[in-house]
Amino acid sequence: MMYITKMMIEIRNLLQQVGQTNTVTLPSIVVIGSQSSGKSSVLEAIVGHEFLPKGSNMITRRPIELTLVNDPEARVDYGEFPDLGLHRITDFSLIQKNLTELNQSVSDAECVSDDPIHLVIHSPRVPDLSLIDLPGYIQVAGEHQPRELKRKISELCDKYIRGPNIILAISAADTDLANSTALQASRRVDPRGERTIGVITKMDLVDAEKGAAILDDKMYPLRLGYVGVISKLPVQSGLFKRDTGNVLASITRNEKAFFSQHPHLFGPEAHVNTGTVTLRKKLMQVLEQQMSSKLQVTQDAIRRELQETTYQFKVQYNEEPMTAEAYLAASLDDFKHLFHNYASTFGRPQMQQLLKSALDQRVLDQLAARYWNKPIDDLAPAFPEQDNVADLPKASPKSPYWHLQLDSSTSALTRMGVGRLATQVVSSAVQSSVEQLIGKSTFAKHPSARQVISEAAATVLADRSYTTSDGIEFALKPYKTEVDIDQQEWQQGREHVGGVLKGELEQCQTAMKQLETVVGSKKKLKEVMSFVDKARKGNVVIEGETRNGAGGFSAALLAKGREAVFLRDRADIINMRMLAVKSRQCKTLDNKYHCPEVFLDAVATKLTQMAVLFLNVEMLNDFYARFPREVETKLGESMLGGGLDRFAREDTRIRRHLDLIRRKELLELVLTKIEGLNRLDGGKRGDERNP
Ligand code: GDP
Repeated sequence: MMYITKMMIEIRNLLQQVGQTNTVTLPSIVVIGSQSSGKSSVLEAIVGHEFLPKGSNMITRRPIELTLVNDPEARVDYGEFPDLGLHRITDFSLIQKNLTELNQSVSDAECVSDDPIHLVIHSPRVPDLSLIDLPGYIQVAGEHQPRELKRKISELCDKYIRGPNIILAISAADTDLANSTALQASRRVDPRGERTIGVITKMDLVDAEKGAAILDDKMYPLRLGYVGVISKLPVQSGLFKRDTGNVLASITRNEKAFFSQHPHLFGPEAHVNTGTVTLRKKLMQVLEQQMSSKLQVTQDAIRRELQETTYQFKVQYNEEPMTAEAYLAASLDDFKHLFHNYASTFGRPQMQQLLKSALDQRVLDQLAARYWNKPIDDLAPAFPEQDNVADLPKASPKSPYWHLQLDSSTSALTRMGVGRLATQVVSSAVQSSVEQLIGKSTFAKHPSARQVISEAAATVLADRSYTTSDGIEFALKPYKTEVDIDQQEWQQGREHVGGVLKGELEQCQTAMKQLETVVGSKKKLKEVMSFVDKARKGNVVIEGETRNGAGGFSAALLAKGREAVFLRDRADIINMRMLAVKSRQCKTLDNKYHCPEVFLDAVATKLTQMAVLFLNVEMLNDFYARFPREVETKLGESMLGGGLDRFAREDTRIRRHLDLIRRKELLELVLTKIEGLNRLDGGKRGDERNP
């Protein structure tokens, strides 16, 4: 019988998900009454649980939109706060606690808020009802209450008691009905009393004749009538605990005991309504009628909203469908496309170049450690027994010293861990390219997805790095004992190392310029350098050098001077070696001991080529094959449990698109439901006309 109310409440909940609907308002029962009129007790009696905030100072500051759902399947009664994501709360004292906190979240300055708290209660024992509990009217603001409280409560109530809502006006039997704030308010908006139900509480506190006279009120007639109740909650006793869900049973017992004492006043012949059970039935009937009378207008309003939404969808999105899944799929496609393009530009030659320049640096380190470690001429006279790179062009081709130097440098290069270096260089180049690709893709707007992709790249790269590194080392094994270079490789090394030396020389010059800037001028730097030189030539420690410096130069200045001298000497050596490399002596492989730069460069090239063969097969091709799949899997995992929707909604453009589609779908669903209801209701009304 109460099918329409149930469906309409469901429809209202759907409409709430749609967001602010401008035109659709479905009727609710709004409960008004002055403080202490027994408003909370009536509501709790209807629900059968104690759940409303209590306490002498507790003033309801926000409307509570209470939906009662008759749920024959529910084993226990439970409440939900859908806006807070709190579900299945079976402990009603917890519901009370939540309501108290939500209530207290309104500041004194704000007094009352019209932002409603949504609470849904499921029980097999409640009727389908939609009730709104409003702050109780106050007569005089208390000492600690804000002054505007009275006015603000009144304004808030006025907003809710408009049609099509039904007004449940609570007044206590022991106060004069003429003074009932609830009835006064209702009369302002419903002067003919067509949608107001009068509830008279505390019937036990006045004598029966007086009580019966109130219920039969002729002064303020209401079409929906008055109901007299005694909804004082039972006092806790050993036999009966409060809030066991039996509140209503106990209240009903109490009411029956009272009203049955006066059958002539409250019995069936008396034609007055008494008892909470009667009140509940009345509420259901009235709400059902009101809902049913609103079916057609609601249907029309929803149809208009749907037309408006469909129009927006056409104009703004050209009816283009959109789902979070589709957005993810498109984003993935876009990323894969970018990745595919990148893969076609990064292969063996690029790895070769990267690794070779890393090895060039190692070659320079070896040269610095074994050949360029002494100034060209300064030290030579002081330590004539020591070989110096300046002697190299004149050295005997059989000199064991220079043989040892080259062999040690070569072996240091081949044994330095090329495998690890190679995998590291390539991994970090690929990783940073992936970061750049993400930056260019749709995922740039999605921080968590961005991280997932970046981690996927790191994982796949790390997966192969050990085996690749080992493989490279194994392949390089023969080179660790001897490296054979042919004339062509020699020639290529000679050409290449010229560039490397030039680059190194430029770096020395840049560093020198920076020192000049730091020191203040070229002249000043020269002065410090010549002091450092003099001190060194005399082979003496700068006498008396302390933290205050020496020779009129500060300690910091002397340090800069030494740095500059080092750079100058290094530049001198490099210059000299550049000339040597270009000279006839370094033209052929036969003079390899005279031209370590060329030989080591050729060795580095050989190592690079071998390493790159492995890198390509073991690491890069594997990465190209696995990474896109890994991204897909990992993104999929990260989007379980609502993640997909969150992901898509991070993009405002997509969020708006999705919202509009969802709104349209929900409105379509609501319209279908309401059309079905309307047909049913029309049929029923037809039946009533032709029984
Ligand atoms: P509200 O401020 O309007 O929500 O009023 P309450 O429901 O909190 O009730 C105020 C006081 O009146 C409480 O002490 C209730 O126990 C008491 N009360 C409520 N209904 C009745 C009733 O029908 N009979 C009696 N005797 N007391 C009642």
